[in-house]
Amino acid sequence: MDLAGVEVVGTSIAALATAFAVPRYRTAVDMGRCSQTLAAQDTVLLTHCHSDHVAGLVAWLSAHTRRHTGRPTRLVVPAERREPLTRALTVWPDLDGVRRRVDLEAVIVGARPGDTVELASGVARALPADHPVPSLGWALADSVTARPRLVFSGDGAPRLYHEQPELLDADVAIVDCSFVSEGSRVAARLSAHGHAADWNDLRPHMRCDELVLAHLPADLDPEELSRTFELRSTGPTLAAWWPAPVTTGSESP
Ligand SMILES: [Zn+2]
Repeated sequence: MDLAGVEVVGTSIAALATAFAVPRYRTAVDMGRCSQTLAAQDTVLLTHCHSDHVAGLVAWLSAHTRRHTGRPTRLVVPAERREPLTRALTVWPDLDGVRRRVDLEAVIVGARPGDTVELASGVARALPADHPVPSLGWALADSVTARPRLVFSGDGAPRLYHEQPELLDADVAIVDCSFVSEGSRVAARLSAHGHAADWNDLRPHMRCDELVLAHLPADLDPEELSRTFELRSTGPTLAAWWPAPVTTGSESP
């Protein structure tokens, strides 16, 4: 998708795979699967270590260090997960080639909310996220003082953004919308994921210019998603990260 002039390439389906490449910053957010474009990114910013966000890491490490020799290789993870993830990749079978090419201890970096990470022609700032495992959101900007172009919320409950709307102050916010169907609002709350109706309620108070619903369910009914939002006419324009993008932004003033 072209999001406010920034190309974002990837996949995001709840429980299966989430991985976004932002070639402008030579950066990926999450690595639930790998692809040629994702493998070319020098930095991977992880939101958390659930399998649908990390399953492509071994492929990225292998492909990036072999096919993009001379490029930096860096994996930034929630600080609490640095040690266990390093240990896992240290004992992963037949990853010897990667371990010869890079020092995993140096490649894997821990981050906490508020930390910044220098990127190619930009900077990433770690944000808090409301999820049951150690988690971060990521804001990507051209400089430390610039408004973020993109914010990736990671997985988590939208109630955090009621309390701290400034977290999603960006040109574009890409958020977790794992639940859409009418009867699943309690399930969304219990699992600390976003529900389309939560985002619809929050939308008039949001500071981003464009809201992108990602991490949508595999059995999404696009019409049901559109119905959730059709009553609301204020707030950021809306798009959905889906194989056939559902855009209702034209309904907004
Ligand atoms: Zn997930």
